[in-house]
Amino acid sequence: MVLKDKVALITGAASGIGKEIAIEYAKAGAKVVIADLALDAAKAAAEEINKSGGTAMAVAMNVVDEAQVDKGIADAVAAYGTLDILISNAGIQIIAPIVDSTLENWRKMLAIHLDGAYLTTRAAMRAMIKAGKGGSIIYMGSVHSHEASPLKAPYVTAKHGLIGLAKVVAKEGAKDKIRSNVICPGFVRTPLVEKQIPEQARELNISEEDVIKKVMLKDTVDGEFTTTADVAQTAVFLAAFPTNALTGGRWMKRPP
Ligand code: NAD
Repeated sequence: MVLKDKVALITGAASGIGKEIAIEYAKAGAKVVIADLALDAAKAAAEEINKSGGTAMAVAMNVVDEAQVDKGIADAVAAYGTLDILISNAGIQIIAPIVDSTLENWRKMLAIHLDGAYLTTRAAMRAMIKAGKGGSIIYMGSVHSHEASPLKAPYVTAKHGLIGLAKVVAKEGAKDKIRSNVICPGFVRTPLVEKQIPEQARELNISEEDVIKKVMLKDTVDGEFTTTADVAQTAVFLAAFPTNALTGGRWMKRPP
């Protein structure tokens, strides 16, 4: 129970990686707030956790909406008394070559990944500073926080940007014992990735099998997908780490 009685708000936790982190955090003793655009799915995820003996609640949150973010964090603090951990995880993927892409989609991608990270960080830091107990802020970066792929200009740009934000949070947060880290997973088979397998096959004019083997897993050390469990374990480790020594860092399996 390494996160016993810690309060964690996880954005985008109604599905995929965020949901797995919510489940693992609850098992580790945390009270979990599932913040998602998809409220019904968020409620279902919270119910699943509560039924299996954990403690969770759902809040409606579009991470690009300032008022909804502030309210979601305030509701979490009102329900569970404090906020110790923020996982900024909500994200989407839109693939297109730059020359065929639209400004609208560019802005949408940057808003969800960067405005969302900024707004949740600001609200969480304010709550953590007020409580005076420190805290841990974890961003869901990606292998694309370090590497580039064709067809993913806004995603790669945003995921690189999260590293900059995390470094600033590490510096500004240090005096209040607020740590920040970025988890940078390789490809994980969630709905976000399942959707892009046929899309990439079409764009690159190759089979779906080749998208998996020759694009997604090509540069990994072992030819394997990362799993939601791999990411969730990393998120537990980072949030439970007892000192300020791990801050401003980037963690996870990635290609060499
Ligand atoms: P997913 O599609 O399974 O889950 C994403 C969740 O985010 C959904 O529940 C969705 O409703 C929510 N969401 C989307 N837009 C939102 C918004 N504006 N406000 C609030 N919630 C919103 O995807 P996933 O693969 O679990 O992705 C989670 C994060 O992990 C993303 O940031 C993604 O970029 C990152 N990531 C994924 C992979 C991968 O291979 N799947 C690898 C590295 C990083």
